[in-house]
Amino acid sequence: MADRVIGLKCLNCGAEYPLSRMFEGCPKCATDKFRSNLTVVYDYDAISKLISKDLFLKRSRLMGVWRFKELLPVENEKYMITLGEGNTPLLKCKNLEKILGLRNLYVKDESRNPTWSYKDRLCSVAISKGLEFGAKVATVATTGNHGGSTAAYAAKAGMDCVIFTLPTVSDIMLTLMHIYGAKVVPITTPEGRWALMKKCVEELGWYPTGTYSSPMPTGNPYGVQGYKTIAFEIAEQLEFEVPDWVVVPTVYGEGLYGIWLGFNEFQNLGITDDLPRMIAAETEMGPIANALRKNLDYIEKVPSKPTVALSIAGTISSYQALKTMRDSNGYAMPVTDDEILQAQKMLAKHEGIFAEPASSASLAAVIRLVEENRIDRDEKIVLVITSTGLKDIRPVTPKKLPAIEPVWKDLEIFLKKHYNFQL
Ligand SMILES: [Zn+2]
Repeated sequence: MADRVIGLKCLNCGAEYPLSRMFEGCPKCATDKFRSNLTVVYDYDAISKLISKDLFLKRSRLMGVWRFKELLPVENEKYMITLGEGNTPLLKCKNLEKILGLRNLYVKDESRNPTWSYKDRLCSVAISKGLEFGAKVATVATTGNHGGSTAAYAAKAGMDCVIFTLPTVSDIMLTLMHIYGAKVVPITTPEGRWALMKKCVEELGWYPTGTYSSPMPTGNPYGVQGYKTIAFEIAEQLEFEVPDWVVVPTVYGEGLYGIWLGFNEFQNLGITDDLPRMIAAETEMGPIANALRKNLDYIEKVPSKPTVALSIAGTISSYQALKTMRDSNGYAMPVTDDEILQAQKMLAKHEGIFAEPASSASLAAVIRLVEENRIDRDEKIVLVITSTGLKDIRPVTPKKLPAIEPVWKDLEIFLKKHYNFQL
């Protein structure tokens, strides 16, 4: 299998590089305000002889993302680490379809992953590739899902893990990072984290699962490949009919690009015969929407605003996100906190899905796009729910109500008073 993975290639200028520890994008076309991402190059002719629809479908779900190992960048099977990630359900949202006047609305529920977020697909591949490179210490700068996931996969791989976080990290995220054995270092400034992490990567050989490059984030080009498996699974679950729209909560655009790439690979390999259009659901800051509106060739930093959608709170995005929007003829849709919290309630109350606020942005974006007639009501739409609402219950924690005596009359009064519910 060694020859199926060829090297790395710049998404912008096409410069090619060997498979190596390159995490700051393409040096050749970098400027003071632009950094392009690198992507993995495969020999698709060789791969097409190794794979088929049936091969993937008949493999055990216990293989996690490695059910699609021929299309992932780890060459030696002994380094493929899994916690059984992926293989998440695609749920048809019949109740929301009725409420919103849609006919084909689905949720890809990524909250069912081992650390309850889609980051597990990225970390499974990133950490496995790190093992193959001989890395001893994994690292990431994050206050969110990426931290717990990196820590869990590093634990499984027997690697040390150092996470650069911020004093604002929530108790739940901090707990996850800690319990999986990471050394968690709070840093006073967000900008300072990337610089310190870069030093550790360059001077100590630490292995990053996330970005530390400026002016634009680039990330780990191997890890992003893990997100392709979301597209592969959606295609399988829709019996190889590609949806019209795939909606991804987005900040740096790794999931957005990875899923788009997966659909492209299945089409190129003749497994599917179409491509979806991609929607980036953003917070009100909307760095991708800003770049598209101004027709920029790079993503410029936008002003910071507070948001409940912590997992997609960011003032900058990546070249691969911008390119995905243009290549897929997609939309970047910024939504407000009110819209996000409303969508979170709708997913829970009508579909039984408790999504974190950032994940709920995908439904909020669709509601807006349907209202604006930019999505047709008959079209097939898949919302990617990236993580669980249990990661941050602060926006939705209910007030505790006083206990009643265990008597019929009190129950009747209680339900009427607090829920307007008649016995
Ligand atoms: Zn380049």
